[in-house]
Amino acid sequence: MDFRSFNLHDDVITGIESMGYNTPTPVQQQAIPLILEQKDIIACAQTGTGKTAAYLLPLIDRISHANYDFTSTLILVPTRELAKQIDEQVEGLGYFAPVSSIAIYGGSKGDEWEQQKRALTGGADIIIATPGRLMSHMALGYVKLDQLKYLVLDEADKMLDMGFMDDILKIVRALPAERQTLLFSATMPKKIRDLSQQILQQPEEVNL
Ligand code: AMP
Repeated sequence: MDFRSFNLHDDVITGIESMGYNTPTPVQQQAIPLILEQKDIIACAQTGTGKTAAYLLPLIDRISHANYDFTSTLILVPTRELAKQIDEQVEGLGYFAPVSSIAIYGGSKGDEWEQQKRALTGGADIIIATPGRLMSHMALGYVKLDQLKYLVLDEADKMLDMGFMDDILKIVRALPAERQTLLFSATMPKKIRDLSQQILQQPEEVNL
């Protein structure tokens, strides 16, 4: 199988080639067609399996050709390190499409807060955020998510372990009900199942 079989736009294929990816990984083979069919998904996938590109590629394909003038995609993550890594993959995979992204994370210095605030005010296609820091920006009115179309929870089990359940639910309540939601988690404990029942609609399961 190769990436061309997904019918992605040529500029997205160019991005994939520029990153040196030749063959879709198993999670990409399973998840990409489902995401392109607009399904909600719950995917059990570890770090290192190519899970990030599994959701980024179909989303970049959609967003970059829709020419939205608002933030269409929110990716919630547990840590600043993961936020930065995803931001770099968006930049690489979406370079030719193109799409814009901002990483918003906590634990940063005051000047980074200002930088994040300015970036948010300018707008971006994709916001990649840790839940606590995003809540702070939302409370101050710096971020508009009222037209959001795609929500991703990456490393959802880790976010719950870090105590982000309440923040996640508050953020989700502020989003349009009509959206596509994608949940990725390395483990599937009961609390992940409970969360998925609250925020996903008739999800397809991806298990490796
Ligand atoms: P992830 O599981 O998303 O953390 O990805 C692990 C690493 O695999 C990252 O460095 C990606 O750039 C890389 N990667 C993702 N998909 C592919 C692919 N299809 N072929 C080669 N490398 C990939």
